[in-house]
Amino acid sequence: MIACTYHPKKPARRCCESCHINLCQQCIKIDNAIQEKFLCPICESQTKHLGYAHAIEPFWRRLGKVLRYPFNPFTLSYLAGLTLFLFIAMLIPIPFRWIFFIFILYAIVKYAFAVLEHSARGFLTPPDSGLGHLTKNNWIPLQYIVVLGAFLAIIWAVWTYLTLGLAIITAASLLYLMPASIMLLGVTGNSIHAIHPIALLDVTRAIGANYLLLWLMMVVIALADGLIGLAIEQGLPTLIGLPSGFFISSLLLIANFHLLGYVVYQYHETLGYDVDQDFTEDEDDLPSTHSADAIRQEIHILLEKGDYETAKKRLKHKIIKEPNNLEIHHFCHQFLTEQNDRPGIPRHAQQYLPLLLAAKENNQAINVIKLSYAINPDYKIKDANIALKLAQLAIAQHEKGLATTILSHYRTHYPGDKNMVEAQFQYAKLLHEFHHDTAQAKMILRSLIGRHSQHPKIELLTDYWNKLQ
Ligand SMILES: [Zn+2]
Ligand SMILES: [Zn+2]
Repeated sequence: MIACTYHPKKPARRCCESCHINLCQQCIKIDNAIQEKFLCPICESQTKHLGYAHAIEPFWRRLGKVLRYPFNPFTLSYLAGLTLFLFIAMLIPIPFRWIFFIFILYAIVKYAFAVLEHSARGFLTPPDSGLGHLTKNNWIPLQYIVVLGAFLAIIWAVWTYLTLGLAIITAASLLYLMPASIMLLGVTGNSIHAIHPIALLDVTRAIGANYLLLWLMMVVIALADGLIGLAIEQGLPTLIGLPSGFFISSLLLIANFHLLGYVVYQYHETLGYDVDQDFTEDEDDLPSTHSADAIRQEIHILLEKGDYETAKKRLKHKIIKEPNNLEIHHFCHQFLTEQNDRPGIPRHAQQYLPLLLAAKENNQAINVIKLSYAINPDYKIKDANIALKLAQLAIAQHEKGLATTILSHYRTHYPGDKNMVEAQFQYAKLLHEFHHDTAQAKMILRSLIGRHSQHPKIELLTDYWNKLQ
């Protein structure tokens, strides 16, 4: 497996040839403007596809999953139904019994091929569309018999017209090609393909040395099947033994056909087949289409490379594109704090604070404004409205010191502002009640009352002023 440069446990899907990095699904930068454009998170140029075979979990590591495959309600009840049918068949006279047998054989082979085809398209759980999928490819079981018949005929012909030795070699070769033949039949639905020597050799070549491994896995499963069957046959009366043996064999057959389908899926690129399903079993291994996650990933990669300036530029650009995405602003604030970007934090706060207030994320708003003042004691919140709201919030949260800082700047920062009376009144109250600076409070109130005699709150102001006398 080629691993992602930034996620060593994840298979890489694409690579950037100029940055020499391999990228997993998550790390690829997706350009939303142009679909199907997969960019390098560092240099933003088009990436190159790495091929799938290495990214898909190799079939030989899936033996456990392959054997567990048939254990789901649909497959189990389907096979149990056929087993029950077989049991009934054994209770009726021979000539009719055969009709049942043929039907059961047909139904099991049909289902096995449906599983193969479904798996080959990249679905790793059995088809759950009920019996619907059983209505297509009705001739597959018959074609399978034709293929098997053709194989037997070839062996028979070699034996009859040539030698027994050659016949044994032929039989062994055909047995070796059997998995390839079933795969071809399952995927193409064409029995000619399934016995065509060139097509068969092409399949073994595409899978390479691992074809032998596949073959051995199938032989092991078949041997296990044989041994279990033998044990059941000897231990149980035929009436029970035969259906039980059939049930176990069917389970293994389904597992085997799933394995064959999965191999087609794993090698679909070299085999030249399309798949429906992307090769992932992992929920969190999907491309980051979520805007905030995507930029987080991109910045993470740039920082890992030590390119702080580019990271900052990308983040800025992202904010210009999505100015109201609070999640991206959260991330930006975190990024600036972690990088200890002292000029950056208060600058970003200008945009961040109004969004925090609108989202009622009060604690974070308080933290951000405090941090901004800590960096720059003369910090000016651009919007007077936001400044007043923050001051009121600070008072409500018993952050009296912070409220005083904001309000002490109000008159110089926002001369002529429509909320001047309110802001100055709050400031005077704070001076008196919190800082015990009654003289200063009185001075502010007197000047306010003098200049704003028509203000609707004038009564409140004079009442308070009288109290201070
Ligand atoms: Zn990655
Ligand atoms: Zn690159």
